[in-house]
Amino acid sequence: MALNTCHIDTAIPAASTLDFFYTLAMVSFRRSNPGPVRYSAGTLAKKGLSGDDWPRVWRDHELKSTYDVVIIGGGVHGLATAYYLATNHGITNVAVLDKGYLGGGGSGRNTAIVRSNYLTPEGVAFYDRSLTLYNSMAADLNINVMFSERGHMTLAHTDSALRTMHWRAEVNKLQGIDSSVIDPQEVKKLAPSLDVSSHPRYPILGALHHPPGGIIRHDAVVWGYARGADHAGVHLHQKTEVLDILCEGGELADGKGAGGKVTGVRTNRGDISAPIVVNCTAGWGSLISNMAGVKLPINTHPLEAAVTEPVKVFLPTVVVSGSLHVYVSQTDRGELVFGASVDPLATYSMRGSLSFTEELAGHILELMPGISKMRLLRQWAGLCDMTPDYSPIMGFTPVEGHLTDVGWGTYGFKAGPVSGEQMAECIATQQTPKLIAPFKLSRFETGELVGEKGAAAVGH
Ligand SMILES: Cc1cc2nc3c(=O)[nH]c(=O)nc-3n(C[C@H](O)[C@H](O)[C@H](O)COP(=O)(O)OP(=O)(O)OC[C@H]3O[C@@H](n4cnc5c(N)ncnc54)[C@H](O)[C@@H]3O)c2cc1C
Repeated sequence: MALNTCHIDTAIPAASTLDFFYTLAMVSFRRSNPGPVRYSAGTLAKKGLSGDDWPRVWRDHELKSTYDVVIIGGGVHGLATAYYLATNHGITNVAVLDKGYLGGGGSGRNTAIVRSNYLTPEGVAFYDRSLTLYNSMAADLNINVMFSERGHMTLAHTDSALRTMHWRAEVNKLQGIDSSVIDPQEVKKLAPSLDVSSHPRYPILGALHHPPGGIIRHDAVVWGYARGADHAGVHLHQKTEVLDILCEGGELADGKGAGGKVTGVRTNRGDISAPIVVNCTAGWGSLISNMAGVKLPINTHPLEAAVTEPVKVFLPTVVVSGSLHVYVSQTDRGELVFGASVDPLATYSMRGSLSFTEELAGHILELMPGISKMRLLRQWAGLCDMTPDYSPIMGFTPVEGHLTDVGWGTYGFKAGPVSGEQMAECIATQQTPKLIAPFKLSRFETGELVGEKGAAAVGH
């Protein structure tokens, strides 16, 4: 397709001549684009002695009237897709458009839990690839993403929950994922502040323990991808709202809908023509695809979270309780970060609520009675794009050139790297990569659902 920016006619020069020209081209590319300033002790000292300021992490550009690829949404998914398009496939005539600021959606509001102990083989393979990318991310993006592999524990308070944990552990082990069911005494060893006695209303009967899980610094992940994409030539446009997706040839009004193709987008800063428009807008995902005449089975619900004052570190692992609808981890700074399941009403409002705080406090104190005097400092909310089977909707749609990477619900931050990598491959090759094939939109017509509710409803 016409996207390949460095097209070489292989019929004419011999391979060694090609290598020579390729090397020359890369040398001249690197000279004209030396890459971002390296974050290192050496650069810090050099900057300190010379008095030079650090350059901006990414640059502003004029909005061009044409791009090869327009990505809507400047969260981790949109930015990772842009980054891998440029770095893995050499496709750099790409714009990422965000109506607000980069990372202002769920990517800057989540509780940053990463793990791969899902329930379906499709989910496990997919999220495990993301964990692999997270493991080398600090070096790959040259930014401290503070990945803390502290383990992840999902508590079981009922026999049926314990059965699901065993099921997940077996699916995980079959795919080589470190995951096993542990008893209450082992739970106590890993998290001494938990009440594992028989006194609580829902005593802890065991847990699914997943040592490779952990937490990460979400802002740094977003900034790392933004910085990498910017330096590879991608244009990042903040405060640029997509008002419409322009199409032709489709069955609906204005050429939208099945059988049509994308021609560009209308924004608050003018029209852009582009043959490929990717929807990476999570909580706003169904609104955006609707602009191309593509209906997505997504309901948007707020998800709330809260954080306490910092105290000495006492909780060395991530703890999730699906039955109590609550989870908690402790940051390196000492704050406890709490989350729950989504608010029951579908809305685009991102306001916190008192009922969330009340329920959270009640449930968390059943698990950890010893923290009743800790003070809650802040609470906030973000939007979650919930699909019927708790799995994402990725890849092509019935409108040519319109691709989706949405349906991320309460679990999409950890999927950012693998989604970016796979969506970039999908766009560059125009083929659906194997890892994301199960997440196609058409599964809701054919009934091939990828049911992840048992592993994704609360344990983000
Ligand atoms: C409180 C909370 C806790 C969570 N905890 C976890 C967790 O622990 N682990 C985990 O894996 N996931 C978690 N999630 C889910 C995760 O945050 C999201 O799934 C993920 O961040 C989605 O990333 P994204 O890049 O797809 O979308 P977002 O980061 O939401 O970005 C979408 C962007 O699209 C932009 N946009 C929308 N409409 C338009 C338009 N018309 N034009 C231009 N731009 C537009 C928005 O401004 C936004 O910046 C949590 C979510 C919340 C709210």
